[in-house]
This record gives sequence, C-alpha cells and structure tokens, in this order.
Amino acid sequence: MKYLIKNAHSILTGLAGDAARSNADCIRIENGIITELASALNSQPDEIIIDAKDCAIYPAWVNTHHHLFQSLLKGEPQGLNQSLTPWLASTPYRFRGAFDEDSFRLAARIGLIELLRSGCATVADHHYLYWPNMPFDGAEILFDEADQLGLRFILCRGGGTLTRGLEAELPQALRPEKFDSVIADVERLVSKYHDDSPQAFKRIVMAPTTALHSTTPEQLRETAQVARRLGIRLHSHLSETVDYLDAARAKFGMTPVQFCAEHDWIGEDVWFAHLVKLLPEEIQLLGQTKTGIAHCPQSNARLGSGIADLVALEQVGMNISIGVDGAASNEAADMLSETHAAWMLQRARKGMLAKPKYEGGLFEGGADAATIEDVIRWGTHGGAQVLGLNEIGTLEVGQQADLVVYQLNDLRYMGLHDVAIGPVASGGQAQIKHMLIGGKTVIENNQVPNLDILELAAQAREAVKKLQQRAEKMALAS
Ligand code: ZN
Repeated sequence: MKYLIKNAHSILTGLAGDAARSNADCIRIENGIITELASALNSQPDEIIIDAKDCAIYPAWVNTHHHLFQSLLKGEPQGLNQSLTPWLASTPYRFRGAFDEDSFRLAARIGLIELLRSGCATVADHHYLYWPNMPFDGAEILFDEADQLGLRFILCRGGGTLTRGLEAELPQALRPEKFDSVIADVERLVSKYHDDSPQAFKRIVMAPTTALHSTTPEQLRETAQVARRLGIRLHSHLSETVDYLDAARAKFGMTPVQFCAEHDWIGEDVWFAHLVKLLPEEIQLLGQTKTGIAHCPQSNARLGSGIADLVALEQVGMNISIGVDGAASNEAADMLSETHAAWMLQRARKGMLAKPKYEGGLFEGGADAATIEDVIRWGTHGGAQVLGLNEIGTLEVGQQADLVVYQLNDLRYMGLHDVAIGPVASGGQAQIKHMLIGGKTVIENNQVPNLDILELAAQAREAVKKLQQRAEKMALAS
C-alpha cells in the first residue's frame, strides 16, 4: 500500500530543537515506511491520497507504562481518595481475583481503544495479574486484542514471588508465584512473541511488579541476568512515593536507586515508572547509566504522589518517556490527556519552587520548564528510545509510518495563534482524520473500524457490576 499525505498545515516530528517542526507539507509512504517528507509532492498513479488540509501530523504516541486490566476499575469509590499504599489494597488488589477471561479481555479492549483514539500506536503494558494456577493466559489475550487494533504491543511480564502477608492466609489471587515458574514463563513468552527488530510489533520485557518488594534481592539480580541473556529489557515501578525511600532504608539500608544499582537493575536497557521521589545522588546515578523513566503525571497527581522533576532528569542524561499508568488511578488514560498534563504539571512544579527575591529567589515562575515540542518528543521519540524501538517515534525518511493526522477544524482550537499545538495544548479528545501504524490504516475519519461504542459501553457497565459482586463475595469468603 502506498500513501501520499498532502497539504498538511503542520508536521511535528518528535525531534528536538529546530527539527521539532518540519517545513514539509507532504509525507509519502511505501511498504509501511516514510520515503519522502517534502513540500508540494505530486501523486503517483498507485497512491492513496490523504488530504491533510487544516490538519497537524504528529508521530503516533508511545505509551511506556500501563495496566490495562484496570480499565474497568476507574473511579472505584473505596480507593478514590486514598494515596498509593491504601489505594493498592482498596482497588487493584481487592479486585484482581474478580477478573475472569471475559472481563480481562474487555478491560484490555477498552484501554487499548481509548489509547488508539488519542493517537497512540505503541503500548507497553505492565501486566501483573499472575497467581499460581491462573485460569487464563493474560498475555495471549493482550497480544490478541492489540493485534486486532493494529497496535504495537510490549508485554512487561510482572508479578512477584513475595507477598507481605502469610501465603496460606491469602486468597488464591494474591498468592505469589514460584521463581522458577516466573522465569520459565518469561522464556516461553520470549520464544513465542519476542521480536528483536527495531520496528517490532511484539516484545517481552522482564518486569517484576516492584523492584523493592516483588522478589528477594538475589532473585532480583537473577531477573536482570536472565533478561540480558534473553536480550530483553527490564521495567518496574520505583520511587512513586516517599514510602519507597522509607522501605528501602528499613529493609536494605540504602536508597531505592542504590538498591537497584546493587542488583544490576540500572542502565540503558532499564526503565522505571514514576521516579517521583528521588534524592540528588539517585538522579546522578540514573543519569550516568542512562536509565529511562515512564513519567505518569496524571496517576501521580490522582494519587497525590507528587510530580517527577523531568527537567532535572533530562539534564543528567536520562531517557524520558510518558506512560498513562492504569486507569484505576487515571480516569483519563489516553495520551492526549497525559501529555497535556505533563506540559502543565512540569510548569506548575517549577513554579512551586519560586521564591521572592528578598529570600534569594531567581525566577518568577516555571513556564520555561517544558514546551509543547518537549512533551511531544517525550511521548513519541522518548518512548521509542526507552523501548529500544529505534525505527518508530519520529517522522523522518526511513522511519516506520506510525503517524496521526489530527483535524484542527475543531471548536476547541479556534482562536489558537499556533493551531499545530492544539491537540496537546488544549487537551481533551481530538478528531483524528487518519492514523497509520506501520503504514496500515487504523483510524479513518475518526472511526475505529468495526467498533460499536454503545455495545462496548453496555458491556462495560455489565462487567463493572459483576466485578463488584465478585469482589464482595471474595471479601466475605476470606
Ligand atoms: Zn503502574
């Protein structure tokens, strides 16, 4: 299939500096690859023309941290006003055993469609619904659902071999796995799905749920060894709240990042979700080793955890990417809401540090903390780098045609002096004129093919009811 996208109002590339915006208004695509980026190209006889008049073209987004099963746990009342640790018990852990194959599949479908409709092509899901004798294969369902939508999908294989409670007293769904069976499953997943190429549609990542608590320290080191032997990356949660600092000091007598470094969990092939609460020496270590971050501003705000200092993290050389995190702590788990929040919150964060001059203050506010182009780069090119998918994430000749054509004739953008920034600056849901992943059409005229939203909404309402009933039954039984 060949495409010529013409007449674009603007093309944002995902690159840094002056290269962030292209002077071109046309993109030619052949065999899924961008072959030309130029102005006023003439169409060839066998090309499909996409008219991008009054549209902005962005690289499709790369979401580097999610928990798709949580797409049916949005705004759950018990956890709605709780911080991370009590929220974990109230919402994701209370409900995890209530999922069956159908509700899990539905949750994944809803979350993936939500992301796709924001212009996201690549999803890394930190999937941690694992317990002994699992009644369904979550990995297979996730890959299948992503495949049906044409998405690139990275399965971060979560789970753990330790729990805080006594194993025998725990319900089945909270019991830990045996270390050998985790490693055997990762090996199975790698041989079945993992594609090492820089434009892969399927990858596997070693991803114990939290680096501090999910395994013994010896096992953690072994996960890093196994991952490097298999040629896969490493991912986990880290330093989401101050609790990580307290726990690492109490359990190991060091900082969370130091603990990871001691166990080989640091480097260019590692990225952590959150990194909200870091000490200066931890930031230096993460920078020196070029470790990556999945910044999840909405979840961090919703749980009251804080705001990661992306400016400092980028300055020391870390790879910055954006993740939406699970919808149980983010009721807007799409990449436009997320990048809009990232843009705002970096500025708010810096502004919170402003002091009056008479107290030594050096600046008035934080509006220079992040530009729209920075945020687009983090959410596209940054994500691709963190995942090691070097042929996606930017709009350049030779790159995969993963791109989204946003329609700018929208009430929300009327009056904008630079209308190209609308989708991120104005936030909300954008109209998608066309979207391609690997050169294949996945959205046309704002429609995902074969999607019946009313039917999906009815299924979601029904599934939420069932999950509530099952969680209640399980609480009574335990
Ligand atoms: Zn998470």
